Amino acid sequence: MSVHSQCMVLSAAGRPLTLIERDLETPPAGHVLLRVRACGVCRTDLHIADGDLREPKLPLVLGHEVVGELVSCGAGVSLAPGLRLGVPWMGWSCGDCVYCKSGQENLCESAKFTGYHLDGGYAQHVVADARYCFELPPTFDDAHAAPLLCAGLIGYRSLKFCSDARRLGIYGFGAAAHIIAQVAKWQGREIYAFTRPGDAAAQALAKQVGAQWAGDSTSTSPVELDAAIIFAPVGALVPAALKAVRKGGVVVCGGIHMSDIPSIPYSLLWGERVVRSVANLTRQDAREFLALAGQVPIDIHVERFALHEANEALDRLRSGKLSGAAVLIM
Ligand SMILES: [Zn+2]
Ligand SMILES: [Zn+2]
Repeated sequence: MSVHSQCMVLSAAGRPLTLIERDLETPPAGHVLLRVRACGVCRTDLHIADGDLREPKLPLVLGHEVVGELVSCGAGVSLAPGLRLGVPWMGWSCGDCVYCKSGQENLCESAKFTGYHLDGGYAQHVVADARYCFELPPTFDDAHAAPLLCAGLIGYRSLKFCSDARRLGIYGFGAAAHIIAQVAKWQGREIYAFTRPGDAAAQALAKQVGAQWAGDSTSTSPVELDAAIIFAPVGALVPAALKAVRKGGVVVCGGIHMSDIPSIPYSLLWGERVVRSVANLTRQDAREFLALAGQVPIDIHVERFALHEANEALDRLRSGKLSGAAVLIM
């Protein structure tokens, strides 16, 4: 049984997405066919559409924060039709390389990512490997569950690398930041939010979700930070964050793409400060975070768009005009 379905397609980097129709066949073995209910719009989608991330599958359906409802299963999968599942960025890993064998499937040499190497959720339907799909906490409706699948998950993995830091700086206050700030606050941490200079909306959002302090990224931190997470794709924030963290503190770069990091005096790193990146996520991260998200009251700010408005959603993200997370509602 095939389904006729609409999707927004990227045909080449730098071009707007176009709406096309396609037929999806019965899913292959181990896969599920989902009717997409909502799909989040992530900054990574922008990096792929703009050509910052190289060699995507083309033509490509973007979208890796997919909330869908099960339509049918391929051989070997027995899940009930109607079941709500989330499809995140990590879409497949080999299970056989040195990383996969040591619990670091996020670093798999031949990993495939949803909405990059595999068609994603800017569509009415999606096909996904059932082993990489997750049930979502029932406390979130479709639109609010979607941002958990990347913004929430990457935020969670970034937060894990901050270990028990109490005073946490967050640079760039968009979708990921506003979710993980609430989790961090719930865990008893203090949040200091650094935004683009003069971005009153982002600073207001930070305060609203519990930040102790919110100000411009160019201003001096009001306290010495135990750790900092940088979500903005701006390399110049790395020295700024290093200046703000205490000895032994960590600066976690949460984005998949960042502009060049300027040269710094060694004294900024001295004192056992650490700069590290976060690459992708593991299924274990997803299990942990989605269980946690079911317990923490997270107020997710969502701006809704229709499927055919995906270009507009990307433009608003590019120009920094979104407050919270953009979500396509099918
Ligand atoms: Zn592997
Ligand atoms: Zn993402």
